[in-house]
Amino acid sequence: MDVIVGGGVVGLSAAWRLSRAGRAVTVVDPAPAMGASHAAAGMLAPVSEVAYTERPLLRLGAASLRRWPSFAAELAADAGLAPAGDPAEAARAGLDLRADGTLDVAFGADDLAALDELAAYMEKLALPVERLTGRECRRLEPMLAPSVRGGLLAPGDAWVDPRRVTAALLAALERRGVPLVRARAGELLRDGGTVVGVRLEPPGGPPEIRAERVVLAAGAWSAGLADVPVRPVKGQIMRLRSAEPLLGRCVRGTVHGAPVYLVPRGDGELVVGATQEELGFDTRVTAGGLYELLRDARELVPGVTELEVADVVAGLRPGTPDNVPIIGPSATPGLVLATGHHRGGVLLAPLTAAILLGEETELAGLCSPARFDDTGAPRPVTPGRAATAHMEEP
Ligand code: FAD
Repeated sequence: MDVIVGGGVVGLSAAWRLSRAGRAVTVVDPAPAMGASHAAAGMLAPVSEVAYTERPLLRLGAASLRRWPSFAAELAADAGLAPAGDPAEAARAGLDLRADGTLDVAFGADDLAALDELAAYMEKLALPVERLTGRECRRLEPMLAPSVRGGLLAPGDAWVDPRRVTAALLAALERRGVPLVRARAGELLRDGGTVVGVRLEPPGGPPEIRAERVVLAAGAWSAGLADVPVRPVKGQIMRLRSAEPLLGRCVRGTVHGAPVYLVPRGDGELVVGATQEELGFDTRVTAGGLYELLRDARELVPGVTELEVADVVAGLRPGTPDNVPIIGPSATPGLVLATGHHRGGVLLAPLTAAILLGEETELAGLCSPARFDDTGAPRPVTPGRAATAHMEEP
């Protein structure tokens, strides 16, 4: 039996796929689906998210994006969202999964030069992107600011509503009879050097659960239970409500040196995100954070200031030293890691589950826990090691 510690998008996806594959699974979380997954915008955007230093992430993201349509269709069916209909259509309607691309826009000469460089880099990697003039950008998205001078369209990027995804995962787990224990794992139970379960808090419920494997999927809180180099990276984000959708696709840009993005939901909501702050476990929503988001979003799409504020929230991304998640068996027998998904846990959830199930072996080395030593420092790169795989070019 596997115990999954953490019921965010990563832990719930893992639990659902493991249960589907015939494993006995129990999920432990005092507040499932209320961590970073509750805050996330849900962009499935490996191409437009790519940074020059993050090629491993690009490979992982692209592989996971390919898995999303079937993952979502199966989830929609298992969650009962498609009682008599087409599961792919149910994924669109029930999970708000859309694949209409991301438009990255530029305002000034520097931004345009950066987009040109990015386009050249993408083309070198054979990634599908289209360079657009300002006018072409506005033809695609008429609500864009007149000052937009050019853009880069990543037509294959997609997005999904993470809150609907976690709700569907919880429903699917319930339908499969997977137990969800609403308690905190206080510590790992050990027998000699082997992890054999978890001790639960607070007392009152079952004191402990014994298991063959403990899968640590506690997001930003993972380092409280095991030696993993995971830290919280705060993100503030807001949801605005409009009667008519303002945008047809994700739009992003860099304003005042900070990235900002807008993600349209099928129900007319527009998500505006997100700050990146290194403030430990601080989840306060601040006036300054919201001001900056709105100020920058208005530069991209002036009409945002007319919209009603539906929701503001701060979440904690589980960051790692190299921004790549940590997935797979740890050095401690009985303990498996599925954490550190930083900015991409929604995107990477299907791939993470596939790695845990042993269905994805080629890319598993990129996420190997073995690339860090006991202190959380990267191991020196030597030929033949898992750490080497993580440095490979796509
Ligand atoms: P979480 O969702 O944080 O879940 C961890 C769970 O563990 C929580 O439910 C918590 O209660 C539980 N837990 C903690 N400690 C314990 C314990 N001791 N015992 C039991 N349970 C415990 N990703 C994308 O792919 N696309 C995006 O567009 C995107 N946008 C984002 C925007 C913002 C503002 C933020 C903050 C994040 C965004 N992310 C995005 C990142 C994404 O949200 C995370 O990578 C992802 O949610 C991580 O999932 P998780 O399940 O590991 O963690």
